Amino acid sequence: MSRILPPGSTIGVLGSGQLGRMMAIEARRLGYRVHVLSPEKETPTGQVADLEVQADYADLETVSEFARNVDVVTFEFENVHSETTNAVDKYTPVYPAGRVLHTTQQRLREKTFLTSAGIPVTPFAAIRLKEDLDTVSSDLVPGVLKTTAWGYDGKGQVKVNAMDELASAWEQLDCQETVLEKFVNFDAELSVVGARGQDGSVELYGPIANSHANHILDVSVSPGGFSEKTNAEAFEIARTILTELDVIGVLCVEFFLTTDGNLLVNELAPRPHNSGHLTIEGYPACQFEQQVRAVCGLPLGSSKPIKPAAMVNLLGDVWEHGEPNWSAALQVENLKLHLYGKKEARPGRKMGHMTVLADSAQEAAEKAVMARNLLNPNF
Ligand code: AMP
Repeated sequence: MSRILPPGSTIGVLGSGQLGRMMAIEARRLGYRVHVLSPEKETPTGQVADLEVQADYADLETVSEFARNVDVVTFEFENVHSETTNAVDKYTPVYPAGRVLHTTQQRLREKTFLTSAGIPVTPFAAIRLKEDLDTVSSDLVPGVLKTTAWGYDGKGQVKVNAMDELASAWEQLDCQETVLEKFVNFDAELSVVGARGQDGSVELYGPIANSHANHILDVSVSPGGFSEKTNAEAFEIARTILTELDVIGVLCVEFFLTTDGNLLVNELAPRPHNSGHLTIEGYPACQFEQQVRAVCGLPLGSSKPIKPAAMVNLLGDVWEHGEPNWSAALQVENLKLHLYGKKEARPGRKMGHMTVLADSAQEAAEKAVMARNLLNPNF
């Protein structure tokens, strides 16, 4: 049964970046109040929340007090330890549940769950101890060695081109628990952002085609232009994951589409995702509105696309030569600019994004990339 929180209730969010900000904007539009907790202050989420609490996630006393003052808690940053979600859970429900976080925040647990649910993943082996290096199958090389915990945007990863590079790669990752994944020759990377309500209903977006630059998402396009078969399979896998994990909220599934046409799940993110930002303009209810609806026990909104959409990320690099030429980009038809209110534009830091709607996905992508180029016309 749904636990309905009417507008006017207070949503607590752990983590204070752009994902929390965009959720808070949707929440406030729907008449909810938002409290945010993170170790920082004057944050992207804090700027638009009713209350910003600065505390470490391990400060369980403050976390508990935070939980007592809200009606439900969600998160936008999944690297929160179970102790924190358990502390919250004593006073108020957390969605998605702490056990979803527990499964998805550690690559090995995540892969074990996926494999047991019959979902195809990249071939892998766990490397916990030095001895494990000797038992690794050479079939996994070339491969990518990844730390099992706290990695994102390609951090905590080392490419392994030959078996004799494995030991030094592991040392480079401080001999932590890792997984060695076979290097996948893929035609495309895609994602499905899914939302699941308290009544078990599921809405799926995409599949979205994603391209990366320097391991960071660069451009997302929906529809992604994949075959009907790939679309149907990706949706089916996403639906299974959301249901099997009993997610209440939003979860993104990232896939590789291999050169021989198979889908492999790369990773899960139990929250709104960068590739889903184009849902704000491209769909009747965006991923952030779905997060609000789901955690507040409301019915989910529609994920039927309005128009083809493309999103380009704006990293701190865009500021390298001074203030970007916003006026030029804003003249592009059907373009929406989103800036996250971050003061310091460091290279690689996600500062904002732009979304363009058009009659075709290709046209939307071309216009979005062109608009980004207009920001720095002389470079
Ligand atoms: P991840 O942090 O696992 O999402 O990896 C970041 C990016 O590295 C992915 O989006 C891929 O472009 C690339 N990558 C990661 N794992 C593999 C793999 N096993 N084979 C090929 N490319 C990979």
